[in-house]
Amino acid sequence: MKSMVLNKVTDLKIDKTPLSSHEAEIPKINKNEALIKINACAVCHTELDEIEGRIQPIKLPVIPGHQIVGKVVEIGSEVKKLKKGDRVGIGWINYACGKCEYCKSGLENLCSEFVATGKDVDGGYAEYTKINENYAAVIPDNFTDEEASPLLCAGAVGYRSLKLTNVRDNMNLGFLGFGASNHLVLKIAKAIYPNIKCFAFARSENERKLAMQLGAYWSGDIKEVPPEKLNAVIDTTPVWMPVVEIMKNLKPGGRLVINNIRKEDFDKDYLLNLDYARDLWMEKEIKSVANVTFLDIKEVLEIAANFNIKPEFQIFNLSEANTAINEIKNKEIIGAKVLKIS
Ligand SMILES: [Zn+2]
Ligand SMILES: [Zn+2]
Repeated sequence: MKSMVLNKVTDLKIDKTPLSSHEAEIPKINKNEALIKINACAVCHTELDEIEGRIQPIKLPVIPGHQIVGKVVEIGSEVKKLKKGDRVGIGWINYACGKCEYCKSGLENLCSEFVATGKDVDGGYAEYTKINENYAAVIPDNFTDEEASPLLCAGAVGYRSLKLTNVRDNMNLGFLGFGASNHLVLKIAKAIYPNIKCFAFARSENERKLAMQLGAYWSGDIKEVPPEKLNAVIDTTPVWMPVVEIMKNLKPGGRLVINNIRKEDFDKDYLLNLDYARDLWMEKEIKSVANVTFLDIKEVLEIAANFNIKPEFQIFNLSEANTAINEIKNKEIIGAKVLKIS
């Protein structure tokens, strides 16, 4: 099968083609797995973290990609939840143990045996993949393959971030960065909470424009002061400056949720500008979001289907994966980027 593989960790500033085309074996399934013929796979910022080594793939070479939509073409002897022809989605969660204290309490995203799609096992930049039947989500009929794929991580982890903000209707929600994930979270937030006010902070004028088109109340550059204080903010920027700058705009009890697997280190010193009295006192807090549960994926697909929420996206061929990756690195972002595979 055709695939695009990452052979080694590299620096995207120097190496513009980190992924190479490779004729790989079609995966062999176990008794509780299904073989999926992939139709679409969206590109995630996390792929940059893998390529540049901020998170280390357990296996190399690895086929990246964890926003996979495809059809079940073969099932193992013990598979009960899926049948041939089902259209399913696979996100970042590929497997969790199901037995530990976290798995038992609905926090399988924190399981020490968590296996990540496209990092710890091969993912979706390929014609086929395989998945344990418990981690394949049925895709609602109202989405095309391309429309559904960004919902599986940009949407699902964004939705998890939204839940972790604790915002409710009539509150003020901020977005730091307005790419693939936050533009979907804004759509979801405005659907569930009709009176929520959204504030978008982004360096790119295109991102600010998109936010206003989608119904944001205000948009501005990262360091601009918004007209009102915020109850919560979701940060998807890869660096530290925005984290420090946003804290003074939070209300007492406000929460910043960082939706990043890793931050880049080059501006880490900026953290020394954090002022306890101004930025953290009054029970303000900073929280990370880690991975995703299968329930997050199922819920976000349901909500998106109910409210007819669809991502903004651009389509690339599988062989153009490097172009999509470089455009994310260079912040040429308008919504999500989706590889059309078949
Ligand atoms: Zn992702
Ligand atoms: Zn577990």
